[in-house]
Amino acid sequence: MNAINKQTLSPFHQGEQAIQQRLGVRDKMERFGNQVIRDHMPEQHREFYQNLSYVFIGYTDLNNRPQATMLWGAPGFIESLSPTQLIINAPTLAGDSVMRHLPAGAKIGLLGIDLQTRRRNRLSARLIQLTDTSIKLSVEQAFGNCPQYIQQRGLEHIQPSALPAASTSDIGHLNAAAIQLIKQSDTFFVASAYQLSGSRNEGADISHRGGQPGFVRVDDDQTLTIPDYAGNFHFNTLGNFLLNPQAGLLFIDFKQGHLLSLSGRAEILWDTDEKRFFNGAERLWRFHLQQGQWRYHALPLRWDLQSYSPNTRLTGNWEQAEAARKAYQLRKQWQSYQISRIVDETPGIKSFYLKPPSAQQPQFKAGQYLTLKAMINGKQQIRTYTLSSAPDDDFYRISVKLENGNGDHPPGVFSGFLHKHSQSGDTILAKAPDGAFVFATPPERPAILIAAGIGITPMLSMIRQALHEAVRHRNQPKLTLLCSVRNLQQRAFYTELNALVQQSPDALKIYWTISQPEADTESMPPNTFQGRITKRLLQSIIPSQDCDVYLCGPDNFMQTQYTWLRDLDIADANIFSESFGPATLMREQSATDHEPIAEQAVIHFSRSQTELIWSKNDGYLLDFAEQHGLQPDFSCRNGQCGACKVKITQGQVAHKAHSAALNDGEILLCCAQPKATPQHETPKLSIEC
Ligand SMILES: Cc1cc2nc3c(=O)[nH]c(=O)nc-3n(C[C@H](O)[C@H](O)[C@H](O)COP(=O)(O)OP(=O)(O)OC[C@H]3O[C@@H](n4cnc5c(N)ncnc54)[C@H](O)[C@@H]3O)c2cc1C
Repeated sequence: MNAINKQTLSPFHQGEQAIQQRLGVRDKMERFGNQVIRDHMPEQHREFYQNLSYVFIGYTDLNNRPQATMLWGAPGFIESLSPTQLIINAPTLAGDSVMRHLPAGAKIGLLGIDLQTRRRNRLSARLIQLTDTSIKLSVEQAFGNCPQYIQQRGLEHIQPSALPAASTSDIGHLNAAAIQLIKQSDTFFVASAYQLSGSRNEGADISHRGGQPGFVRVDDDQTLTIPDYAGNFHFNTLGNFLLNPQAGLLFIDFKQGHLLSLSGRAEILWDTDEKRFFNGAERLWRFHLQQGQWRYHALPLRWDLQSYSPNTRLTGNWEQAEAARKAYQLRKQWQSYQISRIVDETPGIKSFYLKPPSAQQPQFKAGQYLTLKAMINGKQQIRTYTLSSAPDDDFYRISVKLENGNGDHPPGVFSGFLHKHSQSGDTILAKAPDGAFVFATPPERPAILIAAGIGITPMLSMIRQALHEAVRHRNQPKLTLLCSVRNLQQRAFYTELNALVQQSPDALKIYWTISQPEADTESMPPNTFQGRITKRLLQSIIPSQDCDVYLCGPDNFMQTQYTWLRDLDIADANIFSESFGPATLMREQSATDHEPIAEQAVIHFSRSQTELIWSKNDGYLLDFAEQHGLQPDFSCRNGQCGACKVKITQGQVAHKAHSAALNDGEILLCCAQPKATPQHETPKLSIEC
């Protein structure tokens, strides 16, 4: 917060502004900040402070180090003398030897928070007068904050006579008790301060930080690493760190009433790889302890955890992050997953909940699939199934349609195995999620999701992810789902989807088309149309041509939708699709590779120590390998599922059009042929297969 707004006319100082600029929210925050940050306390805030039993204070000590502390008393111990003045009557001040020495005029950050109601309001103030029993403040900035990551806690007052004698103990490193408290904490408070133009103390702040227990990592007895989650974009704490990389932390032992204050150096970690596996971490910061103090039995207050904040539930902790990192390293290997639950979604679709080995659930993006492998009737079979769960869920769920077969079509091998022979408790081999059909539409842009039949699976995951992200980032996506099924009974996930609409009616609209309604259907439910999706219906639900469209369903269904979407002027590049069947979508400008194919090549299959001569009429490398007795993994054989992805360590291939994502040095055996060299020599390829 910026007290010198008369000069800059901004409620934010240059550290906060720099971070807002870096993250692209500068203009928005300037407009927003000017509306919500006031130079006085509104009546509601005055009343709020006067009802509190405790309050948090951030200030800078005489050594210029930010300190976080708290004061408490019976409700009413804070008085608001006027919209710009507060007096805190706290005899406990006498016990705070550091704070007692603050000079008049010192800047103070104040956080009023009621953990029971999860309400909070904040102040930037200046010290008018400090005595052993009271602190009088003049308010410079006041604003309210959302509950965000505040866990709900009930409060109990303890009779001072029932308290053991309070004592203090200075620490230069984190002792065992400090490490234990930090590791189990789901809440702490951080004080920070900034200085400009050489002045001693221009501004001080105190902020709440909340997360799952274990969200603060103890790296060693001097160092902590802390995730920074999406918040209100004020960046009061990180903005201060930018100008003055010092922090004061306060951890509370809510059960026993001890306080742990830590003071040290703060470092922002913008682009570290460590945050990648930490659910919800936008960035990290590190704290290097310089000095600390335990205040044992300081508080005559106890709190009881009642519930975690909904935002906290969307974040992780360091143990999960480590498990996710390990899982990522193992993602290319087959691992044993346990089927923990099987749920009938419709008469022909079952959901299988899968538990990864040792709770190491690899992260994934909504729309990606798992590759499964099983021995069925003595033959190894591999198939891919899109995850219908959301990335924030703590389980994997795939939803599988039983291929019944009819006439010339035999029943589906894998779907039959899963539906008829798999039971809860069984294990199945799977590779970590993969796939390029992922949801990547920003919330301000409309997204239309069009599915037929079992093509609903990626859409459900995408919708749930977008709605989760909306809670985390406080924005509102514009999602429309259009779903085509045969009859009303076939509406898979109908209840789950309706619950999502009820939760977020302005963010999600759902329409169904029913091609062959049950004979006894009298009327269609709301937003449900008899027949198939028509071009007119499509046109009526598309809010603007500037939107992203996600398509999944049978090949001919997708081709028809694609043609209509192009007729309706939806850009080719904004239409994303995944086919569960044998063919990929034929786009207007087909992405077929025109790279020259070699006439002949020497192929070294390094794992099987086999070297063979390939010639142009041998076709794709998967067919070629199989013709020579090798047994690479494969599933769809048309470049979608990625099951035949291998590494190439020498030479180059030309791929035909495919949708599976590839990293550098990877090829898809089912779509690849040796590429001609410019000199037309016989190329040599070395492939890990
Ligand atoms: C990226 C991706 C994601 C997918 N996600 C899902 C999902 O979320 N849910 C889902 O249910 N499916 C999904 N699939 C499809 C899935 O991978 C399987 O293809 C599907 O379950 C059928 O496999 P199966 O072994 O049961 O059938 P298969 O035995 O492979 O048979 C498939 C079809 O071919 C017919 N057939 C087989 N042999 C012959 C023959 N000799 N002559 C004529 N016809 C024959 C069968 O009758 C059947 O209709 C996905 C596919 C891909 C590529």
